[in-house]
Amino acid sequence: MFQINEHYQALPGSYLFSTIAAKVAAYTNANPDKQVIRLGIGDVTQPIAPAVIEALHQAVDEMADASTFHGYAPDLGYAFLRSAIVQNDYRPRGCEIREDEIFISDGAKSDSGNIQEIFDTRCKVAVTDPVYPVYIDANAMAGRCGTYDTVTQTWSNVIYMPCVRENGFVPDFPKEEPDLIYLCIPNNPTGTTITKAQLQGWVDYANKIGAVILYDAAYESYITEPDVPHSIYECEGARTCAIEIRSFSKNAGFTGLRLGFTVVPKDLVCGTVSLHAMWARRHGTKYNGAPYIIQRAGEAVYTEEGKAQLQEQVAYYMRNAGLIKKGLQDAGYEVFGGVNAPYIWMKTPGTMGSWEFFDDLLERAQVVGTPGAGFGPSGEGYFRLTAFGSYENTAAALQRIRAL
Ligand SMILES: *Cc1c(COP(=O)(O)O)cnc(C)c1O
Repeated sequence: MFQINEHYQALPGSYLFSTIAAKVAAYTNANPDKQVIRLGIGDVTQPIAPAVIEALHQAVDEMADASTFHGYAPDLGYAFLRSAIVQNDYRPRGCEIREDEIFISDGAKSDSGNIQEIFDTRCKVAVTDPVYPVYIDANAMAGRCGTYDTVTQTWSNVIYMPCVRENGFVPDFPKEEPDLIYLCIPNNPTGTTITKAQLQGWVDYANKIGAVILYDAAYESYITEPDVPHSIYECEGARTCAIEIRSFSKNAGFTGLRLGFTVVPKDLVCGTVSLHAMWARRHGTKYNGAPYIIQRAGEAVYTEEGKAQLQEQVAYYMRNAGLIKKGLQDAGYEVFGGVNAPYIWMKTPGTMGSWEFFDDLLERAQVVGTPGAGFGPSGEGYFRLTAFGSYENTAAALQRIRAL
């Protein structure tokens, strides 16, 4: 008789967003006259930029003609897109990344969840706390996390690196030596970042102990400050210790179109085995490529027209972020993030728990955010608001919060 993968049974219920939805539904049922504003969403709301839409239409028409039809994409993705990535994301920043080190995919969630497959199940994983849950859950499914303690809300075999106000949301090197280190910079959920010098410290550390950094740069386009790294390959030595994962979701609104990529440098080896060759094998076996139409849309992101339009889109969200940050500060809250990321991470007042604050904000201001505790134990006492709403809703929400 078959047996299931028992590691799935060890996963705690992903109750964060379902609990939020249930609480909001209960509130709106009881208060049908009240208008709830959602600043908890992690999805974009602005439509796809015109330059990208044009590329989509053109690619769709190509599919209708036998002479321009495209079937399976090349294993690593189309050269036109990989070339645009190198020329725009890496070369101008002095990063020595070649086209054949880029693997086009359907997004950063799948890549950040799947990349652990090429490592031994005994590898010890380190994550920041709070954390984007995908990193932990994917490793738990593979049996790498041990057992989950519902009281401490931690896994027995995961190294947690607290990122809190006291350390400026910069993780300290862990006491126990990790094999795999997940870093998301700029960070979801805290909206904070680290400096290039600090990231260089992590690269040096990983090279010294023989660890791999899995670097999620999904929010790269939101960086506004000069000293924040856009890519881990800006750091010396990153080619021998880092895999970088990127997405078109947050910079170009591709959450529904689906496109991302992962960079595995050819210098990244374990003994004589190349991780690039392993990921190529994995990609070739389990994945048949992002759609041609979507890769053409991705190419348009890098045209002059596309870049200008997307800069405006990012600026739209960052205007919201500024509004939230200033509004909360004026109301007396302690606020982090929101300068290089579309997330604002606020301290709940006094000793108020993050779920308590959630209920209070829903009840008194009809504003929905995300309790920090949902992202890990060190998120307790914090609350996340996102800048992905409309300007009007964001402004209205902040007016309500100020009036409390
Ligand atoms: C939104 C997000 C992604 C993007 O995922 P896609 O699958 O490309 O849509 C990746 N990492 C983090 C931390 C995110 O918040």
